[in-house]
Amino acid sequence: MEKNKVFKKFQSFQELKIQKNSSKKDILEKIKKILKENSSKLNTYFTTENQKLLNIVLEDLFTEKEKAKFCFTLKENSIAEINTLDNIDVLKYLIHRYRYEIYPQKKIIDNYPPLVQIEPSSICNFRCVFCFETDKTFTNKKNGFMGTIKLDLFKNIIDQIEHNVEFVTLASRGEPLIAKEFDEMIKYTSGKFLNLKINTNASLLNEKKCHSILESNVKTLVFSADAADKKLYSELRVNGKLETTIKNIKMFNSIKEKHYKNNKIITRVSGVKFTSDQKFEDMEKLWGDLVDQVAFVDYNPWENNYEKEANNITESCSDLWRRMFIWWDGKINPCDVDYKSNLQIGNVNDLSITNSWNSDKYNDLRKKHLDKMRSHLTPCRSCVQI
Ligand code: SF4
Repeated sequence: MEKNKVFKKFQSFQELKIQKNSSKKDILEKIKKILKENSSKLNTYFTTENQKLLNIVLEDLFTEKEKAKFCFTLKENSIAEINTLDNIDVLKYLIHRYRYEIYPQKKIIDNYPPLVQIEPSSICNFRCVFCFETDKTFTNKKNGFMGTIKLDLFKNIIDQIEHNVEFVTLASRGEPLIAKEFDEMIKYTSGKFLNLKINTNASLLNEKKCHSILESNVKTLVFSADAADKKLYSELRVNGKLETTIKNIKMFNSIKEKHYKNNKIITRVSGVKFTSDQKFEDMEKLWGDLVDQVAFVDYNPWENNYEKEANNITESCSDLWRRMFIWWDGKINPCDVDYKSNLQIGNVNDLSITNSWNSDKYNDLRKKHLDKMRSHLTPCRSCVQI
């Protein structure tokens, strides 16, 4: 990574190819139609606060003031997500997409984080060269970082965020499908969130897990794969085999085709752009027929942040207003760059999600960033994320 390069979390897609998508114009027409059909019922669907927010969202979308500093607009991936939704859910989605995109820019916090990232397991069967799972002080069982979430704790988290958070990701430091109770967990989320995403390396996908995912209203299933060539794939995804990933994605597609034809799940192959040997054209050629979207995301060099020297970045990190991470043992952390929890906010076993999001500890961290003092925090001092 070139010196002083920052990792912009809000623009992490370096490339994104969506096989079939609507135009922004068509989506805006769809939104207008939904508004017209539901105009008299909006106050039954939304709180006064959310109605106000919806008005701001709509003003941004329809007045085309895109050059304004904080104007909400619809990116390609949001358009694809809206395409899978109907009626009032589209308006609800817009409110929560706005919270996800604009709150971190305007530095707004309300009662809940725009997105909660829950970690089913911190254990991974791969050792990707760009990942902190290569850090033996992290993976050594004796050091206490490795484990899998208990179903009761998972359910408690889901109960707290249902109706309050619509954007949820099941994944963080490890491979989520390693969790033995994954099927029960995913079933428990069913029908509760508008935008539930799972990130997996696909190696542990089996028929049962495919059914669980397809039965449970998952919005996006991301298969992490960074190359289209066997050798390069295994060099980057150490312990992984390209043939297995392809075979498992094909199995998922065939189960979907046979049993869940009307399921609108979005599938994406997403790779970390790590070396110049990885070519997006090759990725598109191989994966384009197997999934709905193919992407490269920027490499965030997080695997050795605790040892690196401080950089000179002073801009605050947007994740402090965007995502909350809850790990398998209940730890609440502001990000996964800090994979050893130096910045831990609390534990969901003794602090509620809403109290934690608004806690003095979280706010102190935010204030340090706003005061351009991230150099006083480890690992923010050497982290390139903004
Ligand atoms: S280490 Fe600090 S700067 Fe980096 S992602 Fe985490 S909170 Fe943000």
